[in-house]
Amino acid sequence: MKTITILSGKGGVGKSSITASLAVLLAEKEKIVAVDCDVDAPNLALILGVEKFDKEKVISTNEKAFVNEKAKDCKEIVNMCTFSAISWNRKKGLPEINKFLCEGCGACQLLCPQGIELKKVKNAVIGEAKTDYGFSLISGQLKMGESGSGKVVDAIKRKASKFDADIMIADSSAGIGCPVIASIRGSDFVLAVTEPTPSALSDLKRSLQVVEHFRVPYGIVINKYDLNKKFSKKIEEFAKQNNIPFLGRIPYDKKFVEALVNLQPVIKQDEKFKPIFKKILNKTIKYLGVKSKNFEC
Ligand code: SF4
Repeated sequence: MKTITILSGKGGVGKSSITASLAVLLAEKEKIVAVDCDVDAPNLALILGVEKFDKEKVISTNEKAFVNEKAKDCKEIVNMCTFSAISWNRKKGLPEINKFLCEGCGACQLLCPQGIELKKVKNAVIGEAKTDYGFSLISGQLKMGESGSGKVVDAIKRKASKFDADIMIADSSAGIGCPVIASIRGSDFVLAVTEPTPSALSDLKRSLQVVEHFRVPYGIVINKYDLNKKFSKKIEEFAKQNNIPFLGRIPYDKKFVEALVNLQPVIKQDEKFKPIFKKILNKTIKYLGVKSKNFEC
């Protein structure tokens, strides 16, 4: 199975909307499975019209530290937690761990093996649904205040890889953190979405450094390009100078908002967007190296 990952350096550039339309088009010719790797704020399901998952499973990909009575002699661990998760409870004469701050690194247990236990915590939910567009969607959601997002993304991708599909299309979160790294790792091609603003370009460059670290080929798409054509030209120049494939530009249109309100991909809201997405998909498939019929634009 080949994996296309859609990412953006900055949030709010339209990454999930673009993923939804590309997935629906791709499913017309290929067996695909879609995954929402934005485990902090997943919304690909909603854009694909999925309001309720067919199956849901609580998973555990993280551990947290728990104190027992034998920790009474371990006052020194209070100052060693990098995440400031440990305080001293004078009344109990024991260290106290703030479960929202604990990252489960295990350092306190090394210092106080008799008084600290690391226990698995149920930190995320994975949902599975069949979309109206003939393919399945796997989506992960981190529980409130929990950590271990990168491992949740790994679990989602592992689950999706068992589906009967030839292409996985993954909607990454924005930024350069753990879930983004887990989304990029193992991908065959990254489609990086940006918009024509200095902050978006600056964030894009940061996320492309992560992509390059994993040596995954990538290309750039500019969304809402006509909001600042001069800056869009600058991004295209940046791509050209750095030999980065330029995959296409998408105009700003209120139909994108209407599509989000109506819980459908924009190509279903208005067919006029189909040729734009088909062009992007044709180029992406070429770089992905799969033999697929061209989408006529
Ligand atoms: S496991 Fe790590 S993060 Fe959690 S309390 Fe111990 S030292 Fe702090």
